[in-house]
Amino acid sequence: MRKSQIVETPRGPVEIPTGLLIGGEWVDAENRKQFEVFNPSTGLAFVSIADASPKDAVRALDAADGAQESWGKTSSRHRSTILRRIADGLREHASSLSWIISAELGKPVREAEGEVEGSAQIFDFLADQVTQQRGTYSTPPNGGFRVITTHEPIGPSYLVTPWNFPLLMSARKVGAALAAGCSVILKPAAQTPTTSQLFGHIMMKAGVPEGVVNVIPTSSASEQSSELMADPRLRKVSFTGSTQVGSHLLKLAAPNVIATSMELGGNGPFIVLEGADIKKAAEDAVIAKYRNAGQVCVAANRIIVEKSIEEEFTAKFVAAVNELKVGPAHDPSVDIGPLASESQVCDVRELVEQAVAEGAELISEVTVSETSGYFYPPQVLAGASREFRIASEEIFGPVAVVYSAENAEDAIQFANATEYGLVGYIYSEDVGMALKCAEELKTGIVAINRPVVAEPSAPFGGIKASGLGKEGGEDGIREFQNEKYIALAL
Ligand code: NAP
Ligand code: MG
Repeated sequence: MRKSQIVETPRGPVEIPTGLLIGGEWVDAENRKQFEVFNPSTGLAFVSIADASPKDAVRALDAADGAQESWGKTSSRHRSTILRRIADGLREHASSLSWIISAELGKPVREAEGEVEGSAQIFDFLADQVTQQRGTYSTPPNGGFRVITTHEPIGPSYLVTPWNFPLLMSARKVGAALAAGCSVILKPAAQTPTTSQLFGHIMMKAGVPEGVVNVIPTSSASEQSSELMADPRLRKVSFTGSTQVGSHLLKLAAPNVIATSMELGGNGPFIVLEGADIKKAAEDAVIAKYRNAGQVCVAANRIIVEKSIEEEFTAKFVAAVNELKVGPAHDPSVDIGPLASESQVCDVRELVEQAVAEGAELISEVTVSETSGYFYPPQVLAGASREFRIASEEIFGPVAVVYSAENAEDAIQFANATEYGLVGYIYSEDVGMALKCAEELKTGIVAINRPVVAEPSAPFGGIKASGLGKEGGEDGIREFQNEKYIALAL
């Protein structure tokens, strides 16, 4: 690997490619610029990565466009073999990948290990799934000719990912695009490019042909996307991040009618109904809210509890939160690491301070003893009204707000009172009631008595301001394909 830097981790040195991956080579940015990546546990920079300019982005599109035709014509068996090798490569590099995720994001290393295994499972699933794709052959209702349908790769795809799951978000997009037969340009978040660099290296070692995967981190995302999306050779943009940036990319996609998939923000309700297993609901609420320090699009943002059980649930929930240990991400005993950046800490603090000034009450007791790094304690608020800013905005931090509801109907009404529609959680031992609520929730995903929804074989995606399209399942591959209809006269 040319152009690399050694990063020391508690489990030994890891070699990180520091160039841009374009056309199968690790190359310098044309203007030789680099940018630093910081460790949120310490606030210190630990690696410098090439900073792609818009000209570099065009070079990456040249490479992707050049590789598209031959990659698109490979057999699904061939692509399946490469996807399987990527899964193997991720597992071989699990230790270094999880330490790097932990170092650049502040995710506790145990959780980072889960992210690596989850990413490998995505490639396992795609390797199985891609050989099963079928077209159709049918006679239309009025007869006369035949309808044949088949699927073709959509073409060079631009994949833009957020910092909160540096590997998993890239794995979902790159994996599905490769399975579909598309070449890609991956742009990781500027805060967490290091994981994608290592991921790029693993994919090249797995036998991905030159130009099929290009990785171009940048500190100027806006200039990069404007340049690429104005180029008619680009046929797809798949984005995960904020609704604001997603909406901007949709506008950029319009002139050239570029296909889009959008995984955007959320404001997830976590509904606990009378008759729920309260102990389990309280424990699961901790997972659904505080995983990755709450920086998760499917995080339980609003904990909505039926009045009759509110006191008991809240006592159990707060007791569990008070047990959470905050500390540097590399300490394996830590439950909550730092937030990803200083600005993230400021945003969360401001939201909480405003809620408290408006009359909410802080009812948890965890404090932070770290003097450096971007730490913020897990907190629980009660007594907030449904009109407070904290009720309508995505918190994206380790803060839960408990609201009370008169009954299930009232809980659903509040759950749906948001522009977002990604996920809703329902806790009830009455399966009929839980299913009725699941039908009423205006979200793309519902979890019943379960705090985690990510699953490679399931269609993940939101509605309303939470997005367009699906990742995962068979639909995830289809997002990168055109369905072609052939009318055959007989
Ligand atoms: P963000 O600011 O929207 O950034 C996401 C990505 O978009 C980053 O790579 C960012 O690059 C890039 N970006 C920013 N402006 C751009 C532009 N004009 N053109 C092209 N790319 C641009 O979001 P974030 O703050 O990283 O992540 C938090 C948000 O993501 C939350 O709202 C969360 O809910 C959402 N999210 C959703 C899902 C889901 O599956 N639905 C999953 C995870 C996160 P830079 O790093 O350079 O800014
Ligand atoms: Mg941002």
